[in-house]
Amino acid sequence: MNSPLIDSHCHLDFADFGAERAAVLDRGRAEGIAWFVTIGSGRGAGSAPDAVALAHEHADVVATVGIHPHDAKLATDEAFASVEALADDPRVVAVGEVGLDFHYDRSPREAQGAVLRRFVALARRVKKPLVIHTRAAPEETLAVLREEGARDVGGVIHCFTEDAAFARAAMDLGFDISFSGIVTFKRSDDLRAAAKTVPLDRMLIETDSPYLAPLPFRGKRNEPSYLARTAAHLASTLGVREEDLRARTTENAIRRFGLDRFAR
Ligand SMILES: [Zn+2]
Ligand SMILES: [Zn+2]
Repeated sequence: MNSPLIDSHCHLDFADFGAERAAVLDRGRAEGIAWFVTIGSGRGAGSAPDAVALAHEHADVVATVGIHPHDAKLATDEAFASVEALADDPRVVAVGEVGLDFHYDRSPREAQGAVLRRFVALARRVKKPLVIHTRAAPEETLAVLREEGARDVGGVIHCFTEDAAFARAAMDLGFDISFSGIVTFKRSDDLRAAAKTVPLDRMLIETDSPYLAPLPFRGKRNEPSYLARTAAHLASTLGVREEDLRARTTENAIRRFGLDRFAR
């Protein structure tokens, strides 16, 4: 019997799943997904309430709440307050995804920084971990996390694409490292090299669905049921048994998000 898996990062509220959402969840369960961490961030301030609603509808779904760095320009005081009001919900296990994305620069960098700082403060107030999105802003992200005391709550660097030095610095700040389907891509040799430096007890896995489908589904809409492919690929990259990788990453996600507090 395979160890169950936890999809530590999926966007179940996105319209990509639409009417198929229930079937997507069922296919995930059939492939061994024990928990779906749905990210309430990515559609302005609109993802957070939808993610929380999904977490209340399904016993195996929990939510996070935040405002994506792409949407930092939309993070008015009112929008922030609406997300903040949900952070205390018992089905909310983390604050995020929040962070810096200087690759796409869809919001001004100053706005991204200000929003990130605000959400780190919120995470500390509600004592919940952070889910961090970082792209093309490694030093800036680490600086904000350090300056704002993110270490008090720790969290996850999601969809990790940085190098070993960044992983080390993030782990020192109390962050676990989460790998997505990108580790299965042919050109991800640098990422696989970085993954080898992350201890198994600091590693999570995720789909980031509907994005980033792992091989052999690359280019298609991703969904939680594909997580097993990423687990298998990562295990062979690291030279560990697939069963060990599944069990350890599941254990880590349970610990990181406090999932054992929920009766199932
Ligand atoms: Zn992200
Ligand atoms: Zn995401």
